[in-house]
Amino acid sequence: ATPVAIMVGNGIGARNGILFKNAMALENTGKADIVVMDKTGTLTTGKPVVTDVIPVAAEEKQLVSIACALESKSEHPLAHAVVNYGKNAERTDHTVEDFTVHPGNGLSGTIDGKMAFGGNLSFMEQQMSIDESVRAQADRLAGEGKTPVYFAYDGRLLGMIGIADVLKADAKDAIQKLHHMGKRVMMLTGDNERTAQAIAAQAGVDQVIANVLPQDKEANIRKLQGKGLVIMVGDGINDAPALTRADIGIAIGAGTDVAIDAADVVLMKSDISDVPAAIHLSRKVLKNIH
Ligand code: ADP
Ligand code: MG
Repeated sequence: ATPVAIMVGNGIGARNGILFKNAMALENTGKADIVVMDKTGTLTTGKPVVTDVIPVAAEEKQLVSIACALESKSEHPLAHAVVNYGKNAERTDHTVEDFTVHPGNGLSGTIDGKMAFGGNLSFMEQQMSIDESVRAQADRLAGEGKTPVYFAYDGRLLGMIGIADVLKADAKDAIQKLHHMGKRVMMLTGDNERTAQAIAAQAGVDQVIANVLPQDKEANIRKLQGKGLVIMVGDGINDAPALTRADIGIAIGAGTDVAIDAADVVLMKSDISDVPAAIHLSRKVLKNIH
């Protein structure tokens, strides 16, 4: 593309809230073969809410109060959902110590001197055995696109909390547009396979890579680069290495500063439909149409 086309393209982008950080980003975006999307905060609103509380070896009240105490120490979107939910419940004061984040899995700490854990199935299985009937309940939640989070305290499985994060209003339409442009659309997430598949089906995503630990997102992008030019779209701290690795990294404007710094393109309106819009603009620039 000519320098003039680049300049005009950048200007049109900026006016529409699509910031290309460099000329190469503007030129390459339209050439991508594969668009990889993070789930939470990218395809979904990233403001999940508690939908189900399923006690196992506890009263609902204890499950919620331990869950809130532990999650109050976390910055994770799932943690915010639990804490928000607990605001309406009766308050119990707990002392949380030795709080530890287990990235992509959950969290642990001591509450009033006893060990507490919260997180996904594989994380909880490292602490205790989980009955088939309990797993079946988690599976049911996951099938509805909800994320089941298990909580354990003092050697007992208190139960699980189902958390739902809805698709962004324009997600389905954006993916349809990407398909019309001949792009392959994939979802990359740390969430479990079943939940991820349910959300992917709602959005129309072609393929899901689930259960990906934060440190493994980049390696997954690297693998996909063997198949074509890859765009990665993400918002989280854990997406940053993948955004850097991808041929074009696109950050959601409402996302973390770390993701925005790592990206080549920033979507200021945080609309997912600005991904096909960015590709469209890039193609126009490549053809020097303005
Ligand atoms: P994503 O790729 O969707 O942003 P993460 O890698 O942040 O997901 O987390 C992956 C999974 O780890 C979550 O779906 C959840 O099961 C578990 N997890 C992470 N942080 C927490 C937390 N604070 N509380 C409960 N579960 C958590
Ligand atoms: Mg995210």
